[in-house]
Amino acid sequence: MDRTEELLRQIPNVDKLMKSEIIADSGVYRHEAADAVRDVLGDLRKKLIAGETGRVPGDGEIARSALELARCRAQKGVRRIINGTGVILHSNLGRACLSIAAAAAAKEAALSYCSLEYDLEAGARGDRTACIEGYLHGITGCEASLIVNNNAAAVLLALTAVAQGGNVVVSRGELVEIGGGFRVPDIIAQCGCTLREAGTTNKTRISDYDRLIDDDTRALIKIHTSNFKIIGFTETAALKDLAALGAKRGIPLIEDIGSATPVNMEKYGIYGETQVSQSLNAGVDIVTFSGDKLLGGPQCGIVLGREKYIAAMKKHPLYRALRTDKMVIAALEATLRVYSDPRVAEREIPVLAMLSQSGGDLRVRAERLCGEIRLRGGSVEIVDSKSVAGGGAIPGMELDSCAISPSGGKSADEYECALRMLPVPIIGHIVDDRLLLDVRTMFEQDFDYIAESVADITRSSR
Ligand SMILES: *Cc1c(COP(=O)(O)O)cnc(C)c1O
Repeated sequence: MDRTEELLRQIPNVDKLMKSEIIADSGVYRHEAADAVRDVLGDLRKKLIAGETGRVPGDGEIARSALELARCRAQKGVRRIINGTGVILHSNLGRACLSIAAAAAAKEAALSYCSLEYDLEAGARGDRTACIEGYLHGITGCEASLIVNNNAAAVLLALTAVAQGGNVVVSRGELVEIGGGFRVPDIIAQCGCTLREAGTTNKTRISDYDRLIDDDTRALIKIHTSNFKIIGFTETAALKDLAALGAKRGIPLIEDIGSATPVNMEKYGIYGETQVSQSLNAGVDIVTFSGDKLLGGPQCGIVLGREKYIAAMKKHPLYRALRTDKMVIAALEATLRVYSDPRVAEREIPVLAMLSQSGGDLRVRAERLCGEIRLRGGSVEIVDSKSVAGGGAIPGMELDSCAISPSGGKSADEYECALRMLPVPIIGHIVDDRLLLDVRTMFEQDFDYIAESVADITRSSR
């Protein structure tokens, strides 16, 4: 028997390794551990045959490698990260973080039976979104409302229920694509509507809409252009003129505002059409927006508007296909409940808390974090930075913010990679060859972990 054959015969079998304490007591799922053991052994076999190694490690060593592989693979999916990008509603990082109350409500609904469609007072079948509709009426004064899975679904349902088979008039300047492949012309076509383009890319007047309305027109739609802005020589029709035109010609005006909050953000220097009540007051018939943008709730699409249109949408078969689950409903109820007191909302809803932090507060937080890192022997500097709302909300708005930047002598790319590979990854952004971790989007309760990690990577690079 040659040497390689002899080595191959020394390879332990899978069952033996699976029974070893290292794996049996690890808490890793058996099938995941078994897959990893098989892969580690397969790899070893290949290396022995190729002559890349001349040694069969002990059982303990093989079991430990397999365990490490299994644990590493188990981390593949969605996991917690720390957001140092300064983008509050980061689409790649899960947009809005829920308030503690909303997360607790979702958890409770998930773990137990709940009164989802059960009216406890009447002891009979109830309506799953009656409570949410009550809150939305209280906050915005809307006639009626409904909830679906996301804002894309809200627009899809509104157009399909109200305008299918007819023409829909949109400004050419609003035929945009929004992140994740939401393309206005494609959505309109998908709803079985024919797109009629009003005006030009930069200028659309009320007369441009008026001219296109005929017997086949079923809706006017206005789309918030989100992260796309036309500047300079521009003109758009005022919302209230558009609503008046629709009313005169008997055609509903739909507005997709994308992101909305009941809180007036102007005191934080944040301007823009973010308040639904402005749209309703202007006479818009159907307003749609996301639950997980500025509202700071779970992912869902919220539709507000006139009773007859909402009723038509609720009756449409698509509504059943687009309805939200119990966890979303529970989390949205808990989010909306807080808005009855805007000061509480600003404290408890993370999106609002992040938006409303003052420059002074941010500097104090950055200095504290910086101090913690230096105390642990790390090198770090405080750098001015800019945060944005993200998620297409309040485009063009930048908020002055504060970041910490590792300064131990390695490149920004090296720091970026080291922090991204941590057990709880810290995601920063690189500006002018420095890695910045913006304190606006990082939670206070993570500061110890951040300090420890940044100290670690900057210390070892000295
Ligand atoms: C974000 C956005 C959408 C898509 O909303 P989702 O909740 O992601 O489906 C649609 N329209 C506008 C104007 C948006 O800003």
